[in-house]
Amino acid sequence: MPELPEVQALADDLRGRLVGHAVARVEIAAFSALKTFDPPATALSGLFVESVSRHGKFLDVGLDGLHLVVHLARGGWVRWRDEIPPKPLRPGKGPLAARVVLDDDSGFDLTEAGTQKRLAMYVVRDPAEVPGIARLGPDPLSEDFTLQLLTDILAAAGRTQVKGTLRDQSVIAGIGNAYSDEVLHVAKLSPYKPSNSLTAEEVAVLHAAIASTLDDAISRSHGLAASELKAEKKTGLRVHGRTGEPCPVCGDVIREVSFADRSLQYCATCQTGGKPLADRRMSRLLK
Ligand SMILES: [Zn+2]
Repeated sequence: MPELPEVQALADDLRGRLVGHAVARVEIAAFSALKTFDPPATALSGLFVESVSRHGKFLDVGLDGLHLVVHLARGGWVRWRDEIPPKPLRPGKGPLAARVVLDDDSGFDLTEAGTQKRLAMYVVRDPAEVPGIARLGPDPLSEDFTLQLLTDILAAAGRTQVKGTLRDQSVIAGIGNAYSDEVLHVAKLSPYKPSNSLTAEEVAVLHAAIASTLDDAISRSHGLAASELKAEKKTGLRVHGRTGEPCPVCGDVIREVSFADRSLQYCATCQTGGKPLADRRMSRLLK
């Protein structure tokens, strides 16, 4: 799933390609992906793109009083096309959710791999009309995201595991399953640690780890086209998705805890005092 660094890089890349161009038309292939009906997607035709920005993991294309907002969800992606085929899109079962065609016949496809179709598009007058954006917590890269703010967030989260607090979009915007693993590995914290149990020193380390992890990922992604971003994300991650590989810090094996629809990765030596975390699913299977 694209998280803050990838969506930021997509926004930066698309800004250079879209701003100043008018939208010729928006074609929808997966009607369930479009979550709004007023204004209709056809209202975007003829409007000039003025901005491309990010809110949490949402991509926001601003056009002359309207916004096309996209949440790529787990399997969604943007595919740039220098030349859009003239044949209109046919609604169907493929990965193509929608296509935005510009005045010079370039444009981009919104695609979604996998069977769970969660990619969501919204045509709105104000991005805050999108419920997921209205709910977003503070952006971890904004100047307002101070050490004091993180201290308050963790205190308010109570016994919630720190991994869950980092991933909760209404608490902190933009960090998902992958970058929460990365941040916690950098901060040498157990993902299961209750949020309100961190010492002042641990909160300071976590605060710095959030900034450095996201900044590093963004600078690695900077200047990469959408087509190259996925591979870059994979190679740049230290623990997430690297079960069984050696920890780049201490050499211990990277372990995993599995859940129904996802998994987390961590290093026991770096993060949990050498003790592997309980994997409820595994222990249930072993009974
Ligand atoms: Zn380690």
